[in-house]
Amino acid sequence: MDQNRLEKDNVLRIGGVSSTELAKICGTPLYVYDEALIEDKLKSYQTHFKSNLFDTEIIYASKAFSCGAMLRLLKNNGFSLDVVSGGELYLAESEGFPMERVYFHGNNKISEELEMALNYGCKTIVVDHLMECDRLISLAERKKKEVHAIIRINPGVTAHTHKYIITGDMDSKFGVSIQSEETILGMIIRMKASKYVIFDGFHAHIGSQIFDLRAYDTLIERMMKLFKKLQEMHKIEIGCLNLGGGFGVRYTDQDQPKTVKDVCENLIGKCESEMAEKGIRLKKLMIEPGRSVIAEAGCTLYKVGDLKETPNRSYLFVDGGMTDNIRVALYEAKYDCDLANKMDQVRNRKYTIAGKCCESGDILIENAMLPEVKANDLIVVYGTGAYGYSMASNYNRMNKPAVVFAKDGKAHIVIKRESYSDQLRFETDEEVFA
Ligand SMILES: *Cc1c(COP(=O)(O)O)cnc(C)c1O
Repeated sequence: MDQNRLEKDNVLRIGGVSSTELAKICGTPLYVYDEALIEDKLKSYQTHFKSNLFDTEIIYASKAFSCGAMLRLLKNNGFSLDVVSGGELYLAESEGFPMERVYFHGNNKISEELEMALNYGCKTIVVDHLMECDRLISLAERKKKEVHAIIRINPGVTAHTHKYIITGDMDSKFGVSIQSEETILGMIIRMKASKYVIFDGFHAHIGSQIFDLRAYDTLIERMMKLFKKLQEMHKIEIGCLNLGGGFGVRYTDQDQPKTVKDVCENLIGKCESEMAEKGIRLKKLMIEPGRSVIAEAGCTLYKVGDLKETPNRSYLFVDGGMTDNIRVALYEAKYDCDLANKMDQVRNRKYTIAGKCCESGDILIENAMLPEVKANDLIVVYGTGAYGYSMASNYNRMNKPAVVFAKDGKAHIVIKRESYSDQLRFETDEEVFA
């Protein structure tokens, strides 16, 4: 642990703010983000994702974590935004996020959502398949509204954590298979025939928590091969290519992610060399990071409740669990933790950290090495910034925790903690057929 993150009394500081003070004032469980770490990541992407041959754009995937404060950071740092639902679109619009920098994704955008996107002036729709292409064209024509479109391709490269598979899942629910050239061509021809839908290029996203950058090399090679065919055989110019996100982060010592610089230089370099080799013209290259922007900047604070010994385990119970972090139950995700109020003590005890939900699978960390823990101690689980709050639920009628941004010794609550009465807001007894 970095010494400048510690107070003299060996309490963890986040963004220069004492974790125990935060827990006392804001309650627990509590999501805390180090705002400077988020800004560093944003700046790092902006610095390194650059080319002399084409324009670049960095699009943050909202689904990893979004709220007004996050959108303001993104806006101020020149990021664009990827939304996948009416709800995410609504947040972007309410925050005044520039709609020419919003990309609307999803494999089943319902017609109301598409209409909402056009009404808001959302510039680009990432079209998932043929039927959606037709729906978008007729909607744009009916509304007489211009909209840009890029086609999502399933490139047949599936990457997960350390492994990647070529021609992995050709039956994924996302995108048009790269093998379905007729369909791809058909979609482009339909868009080009439409007065209102402007075809810009292509998108592909190959997975999440990817460490092996060769997966992206394969992706780029395949996309460029497609572009060459479209360019040479069909005289179709490709405006842009969006390579998706999925760049790996460090949750535990087992994870050794590449730096933002390495990721960006690799992608840019590979695109430049493929373009030169194949004679491809491309105006813009985009990426869409989510997790890698936000995961490591966030952590969760929990208060320790009771402790319990079973024949083979020492349980340590915390006041949250799968409702604020479903990733462990869902993906067997691994996390690191510390005792935030006793950072100096030797970690010589082994605990199973369990949540308070009525599920045996509600375990946050197995075999956590910690100093001796007592009731009311403060646990910090690191790296919970992505897919923590955004996947939180009210299972067992637990309240969703508050979210705090901390920087330079100051802290702001950016999302309030839910209350029990908040959860009853929608209770009603309305007659349906009046
Ligand atoms: C989830 C997703 C991302 C972001 O993935 P991360 O692993 O969070 O970087 C980007 N693009 C698309 C289309 C996605 O579905």
